[in-house]
Amino acid sequence: MFGKWQSITLWKRVLIGLVLGLVIGLAMRAGLGEATATEFANTAIKPFGDAFVRLIKMLIIPLISTTLVVGVTAMGDPKKLGTLGARTILMYLVTTFFAVSLGLLMGTLIQPGKGVDYEVAGAEAVDSVQGKIETADAAGGIVDRLLAIIPTNPVEALANGAVLPTIFFAILIGIGILVTGAVADPVKHFFEAAAEVVMRVTLMVMELAPYGVLALMAWVMATQGIEVIWNMGKLALALYLACGIQIFLVYGLLIVGCLLKLPLKQYFRGIADAQGVAFSTASSNATLPITISCAEKNLGVDKSVAGSVLPLGATINMDGTAIYLGIVALFAAQAGGLELTAVQYGMVALTATLVSIGAAGIPSAGLLLAATVLNVIGVGNEQAVLVIAFIFPFDRLLDMMRTTTNISGDVAVACAVAKWDGNLDEDVFRQDASV
Ligand code: ASP
Repeated sequence: MFGKWQSITLWKRVLIGLVLGLVIGLAMRAGLGEATATEFANTAIKPFGDAFVRLIKMLIIPLISTTLVVGVTAMGDPKKLGTLGARTILMYLVTTFFAVSLGLLMGTLIQPGKGVDYEVAGAEAVDSVQGKIETADAAGGIVDRLLAIIPTNPVEALANGAVLPTIFFAILIGIGILVTGAVADPVKHFFEAAAEVVMRVTLMVMELAPYGVLALMAWVMATQGIEVIWNMGKLALALYLACGIQIFLVYGLLIVGCLLKLPLKQYFRGIADAQGVAFSTASSNATLPITISCAEKNLGVDKSVAGSVLPLGATINMDGTAIYLGIVALFAAQAGGLELTAVQYGMVALTATLVSIGAAGIPSAGLLLAATVLNVIGVGNEQAVLVIAFIFPFDRLLDMMRTTTNISGDVAVACAVAKWDGNLDEDVFRQDASV
């Protein structure tokens, strides 16, 4: 029986875990009542989900540091990194442009804020998000953030799980190995072997994904219920629709189909495991090892690209978040009866893009930073906190969808830059992953 279960392709098992988790969580809520179900889920189910998330997070730094060093040395020429970097950032900006436009379009068509009174968010709700907003804001201004990419102590950066400084350091070590030449061969071989070992461990942890996803989904459903979606009604509809279009039309049809001339079916099958984990964890950071392994193993993206483009993407490329920030701005404007000018639409698009770049790949990061976007349409800080406090209790189910979008975009861009560099193994990409 277990052998038969194991013989099912991983993405299908993850999907089964997701659906089972959803059903079990909802059944618990219906059968035990909200309070008991919440308590039971928090104490007896969540720890399994947390264990899974911790296992993947454990791999982030070892995976990025080894894979990236090997990737850079495999490139053979540091100059290639410049081209790769420039193409990646350009593609990230282009996809985010589509995302923001879609968010604004859906927010305008669906009118999620019309007739909503967000002032009902009580003082308690405001107090509870206030501290979280301050923590999310603590990263400082743009100059500080850029400076922080250079680690003063790489060991500390590794220990703190700081992704961008780790990328920076690993790239330099890779370049160092390249320019040192033969003397550095032992170091190079060490990293090659280490990258292989860490990937093996990642694949082992991925085998637990169906159970982790099941536990996380059951916990979310038991504690939040699905009525969240109805409660947030049009806001959820606008977000889910825009994210769905972004995933299928922009990543699938436009990038994979038209630009790369590759089969969409394989792209979607290849990323399904990562999407399932992103959906249930609501964190692109926590999903990162799975995203890297899907891109490498299922889609044939070379280590040099997967190891650099994807960690960068998990940190700065958040299309689902950009969509959401645009929709939240329109939500607040509509609820407050504000008419936006074309210039304000442009400002929302620009700040939503910047905030999505600055947001961390952790749950609710996007919403907690929404005040900046709200400020540009004339919603003051106090009102902004009210809007955030109003949405926050329902944010998880919205976050799940935007995180899924975020990582899908990272992989589509990784496939694109890999193909342009001759670093995409199309035989692997095209293989039939249906079994
Ligand atoms: N949770 C999202 C992510 O990790 C960020 C957000 O809150 O929009 O990608």
